[in-house]
Amino acid sequence: MSRRVLVAGNWKMHKTAAEAAALAGEIRSGWSAGAVEALLCPPFPALAAVAAAIAGSELVLGAQNVHWEDAGAYTGEVAAPMLREVGCRYCIAGHSERRRLFGEDDAQVARKLAALWRHGISPVLCVGEDLEQRRGGRTRQVVGEQLTAALAGVVPREDLVVAYEPVWAIGTGEPAGETDAQAVAAHLRERLQSLWGAAAGEVRILYGGSVVPDNLRRFLSQPDVDGVLVGGASLRADSFLALLREASL
Ligand code: PEP
Repeated sequence: MSRRVLVAGNWKMHKTAAEAAALAGEIRSGWSAGAVEALLCPPFPALAAVAAAIAGSELVLGAQNVHWEDAGAYTGEVAAPMLREVGCRYCIAGHSERRRLFGEDDAQVARKLAALWRHGISPVLCVGEDLEQRRGGRTRQVVGEQLTAALAGVVPREDLVVAYEPVWAIGTGEPAGETDAQAVAAHLRERLQSLWGAAAGEVRILYGGSVVPDNLRRFLSQPDVDGVLVGGASLRADSFLALLREASL
């Protein structure tokens, strides 16, 4: 079992191509590659500029979304072969903002995963409960169902990344407690184990939701938390570099 720590920045709908290239360049010059894998996920129009800015470095590129078909009459959508061509190694799928604001459901997320894998891109599958579900004691049930639905019919894939992101912790400045994050991550790994057997031990499970340099170690010190998915704190080079430094300790 060797799960390399992953620090992933989700830039959401921030940064023009020029701004994104500048940020990626700053991160590149402030970071010396090591044990931690650092992933940058800019918006679609900035992917090519960020790919150029990080070329030849160990920083890796990811997208934030994908369509499940490889091509077709889907105005406004972007397909996996396009992401692959521009250099994406990862793609976020099923982020709660997409589920909540754009009506993405588990069946669509499953099709997105299949499309990504067809084209050699590793999915970062987001699962997480909202506040009402949490208050109702349904966290494990909700994330377990999201995981199972997204992986229906999928053969074991060790390159899967799962991000546990409680919806109520995203962008609120109120992260989950680290023991809660560990309990949910362990539950997800158990679910994966029952679906996939030994491969579950290789899958990386991230925590996401108001992670900042000051709280990152609390999460990474948990046995089933293998990295973090970060929104706000990934948007400035100093804080993203601080996250990478903390993760490398
Ligand atoms: C996210 O958008 O996936 C996220 C975790 O955001 P933030 O770090 O800002 O809470």
